[in-house]
Amino acid sequence: MKLNNYIRDIQDFPTEGIIFKDITPLLGDASAFAKASQELLALVGDQHIDKVVGVESRGFFFGGVLAKELNAGFVPVRKPGKLPYTTASQSYALEYGTDTLEIHEDAIQPGDKVLLHDDVLATGGTAAAVVKLIERLGGEVVQCNFLIELSFLSGKDKLEGKMIKAAITY
Ligand code: IMP
Repeated sequence: MKLNNYIRDIQDFPTEGIIFKDITPLLGDASAFAKASQELLALVGDQHIDKVVGVESRGFFFGGVLAKELNAGFVPVRKPGKLPYTTASQSYALEYGTDTLEIHEDAIQPGDKVLLHDDVLATGGTAAAVVKLIERLGGEVVQCNFLIELSFLSGKDKLEGKMIKAAITY
């Protein structure tokens, strides 16, 4: 089974000119979901992980699975105003304007080995902001782990020095 067969291109979503990788067919198929989980887990190898940080919202699906399989805790990074306790927040540049992400200030302890997980690495702005949040709390990002890397957008350039792994690369 090829995971690519369960990802569809949606033209002009969410705005004109964007080809959006839709992972819902993969999520909705039991075998594809299981295979994607296994492949993402295999990317981590035998590294010790204390916390898996998943990025709202599509980073939650496999972030939770990875945390369970790695015997690690799960930490959500969310859009502003969603987390109820005291947060650390980080803004980052978009093509037009800025965006902000938040994490609970006590979600990561200094020295924690952290796996960052999201569904898609595109320009890298989101992941770079999450790396900053994790490192501000004293965590060590041991791998940035993605279901999909859109390599033509060079997101890796914003994550210099980090170990980057993806199950599927376009
Ligand atoms: P970046 O900050 O440009 O790397 O964009 C990554 C973020 O946008 C991730 O949180 C993804 O969920 C989302 N994203 C960007 N492109 C796509 C896509 O084609 N499909 C699904 N999500 C995407």
